[in-house]
Amino acid sequence: MYTSVKGTEEYLFDDAVIFRSIENKARRLFTLYGYSEIILPALEPLNVFLRGVGGTSDIVTRQMFRIHQKEDIVLRPEGTSQVVRSYIQNSLDKKKEFVKFFYLGAMYRGENPQKGRLREFHHIGLEVLGSGSPYVDAEVISLGEYFLKQELGITDFTLQINSIGCSADKERFSGLVKRKGEALAGRLCGACRTRLQENPLRVLDCKNPECKKNIAAVRVNAQDYLCSACMTNFQRVQEVLNRVNVRYEIKDTLVRGLDYYTGIVFEFVTASLGTQDALGAGGRYDGLVAQLGGTQTPACGCAFGVERLMLMLKKTAEVPVSVSEKVFCAPLDAASSQKAFELAALLRKNGIPADMDYTGRSLKSQLRYSQKNNVTIVIIIGEEERTSGIYTVKNMKTSEQIKVPEAELAAKVKEILTT
Ligand code: AMP
Repeated sequence: MYTSVKGTEEYLFDDAVIFRSIENKARRLFTLYGYSEIILPALEPLNVFLRGVGGTSDIVTRQMFRIHQKEDIVLRPEGTSQVVRSYIQNSLDKKKEFVKFFYLGAMYRGENPQKGRLREFHHIGLEVLGSGSPYVDAEVISLGEYFLKQELGITDFTLQINSIGCSADKERFSGLVKRKGEALAGRLCGACRTRLQENPLRVLDCKNPECKKNIAAVRVNAQDYLCSACMTNFQRVQEVLNRVNVRYEIKDTLVRGLDYYTGIVFEFVTASLGTQDALGAGGRYDGLVAQLGGTQTPACGCAFGVERLMLMLKKTAEVPVSVSEKVFCAPLDAASSQKAFELAALLRKNGIPADMDYTGRSLKSQLRYSQKNNVTIVIIIGEEERTSGIYTVKNMKTSEQIKVPEAELAAKVKEILTT
């Protein structure tokens, strides 16, 4: 027997319905907010991720799936760099276009798989390019919050925000973390001792539980490193969020594991999923377009992990019904299958979801199947019905049975389905 690759998932029946309903809700909501869909390839040149995401990030150092060594092609580990690559490739940076994109798709990271952490997973992402306005940050954050709470009905999460500032502020922030970190280096994990030298901010992102406890002592307040413009911006975003009643907490150790972030960063975290606690995350990345060879363009975005949203929904929400068929044609004998086939086709032609029995089950077992699968109407077809051209229509909700001639069948079925 063959089994799927470790760290990949597949969705059957209700799971597929939940997966698509999350996507459909995102598509509808983001369109309402003026975002247009961008559909991008799963394959990207390695270089798209090297500079922006960062040469010392986990994604680049350990997690990239390289699939073509000669041309250095990778399976995309994230969407932001890719959207930026496309923005530049389509000359939108030169035209100084203000664009709002959303995307849905699979991402790939060579992780150690566990619950909520996969090697193939799906992002729902938003990217706004061409404006440095704090209203953009506030829109992305409040839209993310609305998506979780109102669209999906997920309430068990906290929104955490911070500002890491412009590149000069980040240098200052980095320096402070390095100094404070070195003072307790003996108590940090090996990886963090290296991080202190290569990319000190990443120390704040360490997942090692023991190290995390010690790192809590490395507290650096935004006032100690943000320039006045970045501080004003940070405060403005908070004011706008307050005005629209978005609840958040300021977490001064929140930095995100990707180098391209500047300014506001944020995460939606939950206490219900164990260590993989981020449902979605994002921030501002004002330097990335220029870093990837384009014209300096301010930008901001975020991404949610569909699999983690599914885990949350399965804990709380009602599982949607996967079978959409509403009418079931039940032949009583082999000779009636032909008529069942024709009637199912007739109903479908009239826009009515219909199916029939292909397995030669008894009527009793067909009715049991119909009950289990949310069928509203069963049309019973036996020898008597075939010869008279009048069929037995059973309403499964009321158990009422009526006789309907073939010519009136579609109209009658429609009437029952809509009452
Ligand atoms: P990131 O680009 O790492 O900030 O990811 C954004 C969101 O994608 C996270 O908040 C998670 O919900 C989800 N995510 C990231 N990595 C994985 C993974 N390996 N497996 C499943 N979901 C993930």
